[in-house]
Amino acid sequence: MLLDGYGRTARDLRVSLTDRCNLRCTYCMPAEGLEWQPVEETLTDDEMLRVIRIAVERLGVTKIRFTGGEPLLRGGLEDIVAGAARLDPRPELALTTNGLGLDKRVAALAAAGLDRVNISLDSLDPQRYAQLARRDRLDDVLKGIEAADRAGLRPVKVNSVIMRGINEPDIVPLSQFCLERGYELRFIEQMPLGPRGEWDREAMVTAEEILAPLQERYGLSAAEEPRGAAPAQLWQVAADDSQPGGRIGVIASVTHPFCGDCDRTRITSDGQVRTCLFSRTETDLRAILRGGGTDDDVVAAWTGAHRAKPRAHGIDDDDFVQPERTMSAIGG
Ligand code: SAM
Ligand code: SF4
Repeated sequence: MLLDGYGRTARDLRVSLTDRCNLRCTYCMPAEGLEWQPVEETLTDDEMLRVIRIAVERLGVTKIRFTGGEPLLRGGLEDIVAGAARLDPRPELALTTNGLGLDKRVAALAAAGLDRVNISLDSLDPQRYAQLARRDRLDDVLKGIEAADRAGLRPVKVNSVIMRGINEPDIVPLSQFCLERGYELRFIEQMPLGPRGEWDREAMVTAEEILAPLQERYGLSAAEEPRGAAPAQLWQVAADDSQPGGRIGVIASVTHPFCGDCDRTRITSDGQVRTCLFSRTETDLRAILRGGGTDDDVVAAWTGAHRAKPRAHGIDDDDFVQPERTMSAIGG
């Protein structure tokens, strides 16, 4: 078990499959992009599957989310999903993607065993989408979302980061779009994990500010189910003439941290365990895998890392320092 010193057990594994991406979202990456990891430093499909197998069979992981960078840029994604789906006990398998090209691959991914998908969409306005993602690809994302729904990966979840002065006008339209189609929308507070020195706590759009226009438009009530280890606080929207009702979530990582309930562990595409998004230390599993280490060696390193998992991310501490890697290289 991945047990830490504060009584938390990690059962949810985030696997970053690549640090590369075909978008340049302002809150995640600099406009010029980043220097990509050399291919030889990236875990191979077999190495990824070995790590996943050990996590599931030996460490009690029950949920796996593939992310990146953009996980659809990884050619072997379908094989990795299929390999993970063959494990016993079978883990729940999810994907977080920007949706580009998803329409062409979603049927194969569902057939391989993918259970759920989260697609990032920050605006329904082509210009604002392009301003945020620095690429004019809104139509491709929308195609990906529809294809995921048609492939039965329901409920399709949509992730949105709201940036002050850019896409605040999208809060209600994004909600309406998702409610009408039965998608579950999650707004995410912007975290200090993008280009260095650009995050500003004062400029960040808070959960409260995101909820205000929704409260006014729909009148929200707190969803009945408890949040548990899930990061999103869920709100219920009652049906009206314009939409059939549904749920909207807000992930308030900054203003209402949920570190006390965290059940996450992470592996980067170059094989480093991170016990927290904000970790400033990593545990090198790749060296063990490539140095002839046994499964027991991997288990020992991984459990050891979790024993030292910090209590909280500390964003509000005076001595907070943003981690060296930015979001796309960690795996969000
Ligand atoms: N490329 C895929 C995507 O965009 O969905 C997967 C990786 S991306 C890093 C995962 C999620 O992290 C996305 O929903 C994105 O909006 C979110 N994200 C990226 N940078 C963020 C930041 N600084 N604060 C909050 N969320 C962020
Ligand atoms: Fe790429 Fe996702 Fe980061 Fe946007 S949020 S730059 S799509 S990794």
